[in-house]
Amino acid sequence: MFCPNPDCPHREETGRAAEFRAGIERCSDCGTALVDEDPFAAEAARSARHIEMVELTELTEPALAATLAAMLDEAGIGYEIEGGGVQDFFGVGRLGTGFSPITGAPQLRVDATRLAEAHDLLAALLASPPPPDPSSGEET
Ligand SMILES: [Zn+2]
Repeated sequence: MFCPNPDCPHREETGRAAEFRAGIERCSDCGTALVDEDPFAAEAARSARHIEMVELTELTEPALAATLAAMLDEAGIGYEIEGGGVQDFFGVGRLGTGFSPITGAPQLRVDATRLAEAHDLLAALLASPPPPDPSSGEET
């Protein structure tokens, strides 16, 4: 049994629906009537789909990372980046505020079925200097 309340204190604290054993009718945290299935797990599974991601490279170079991400976008290759500070990094053009020397470089992972293509893009990128990024400007 799961609490379906998106504002449930338990969910806000843990990121997961509160779970109770069968027979319990109401959430002990918020008093909402429980449901049989975790409503948020189904949602998360749908949005995650079933794409296997494999590591392509470490993003040691912010300018390179931004260019590579743009190339992957253009090629329609799914990718994700794991590591600290990345949300800011790719969010709103705040390039240059990049990586923490403490946590190390984020990892770029790509759709496993497109890994060869991604490798080619990376190789091409490394073989030539990255073009200037028109979105980065001189804001910093
Ligand atoms: Zn609840």
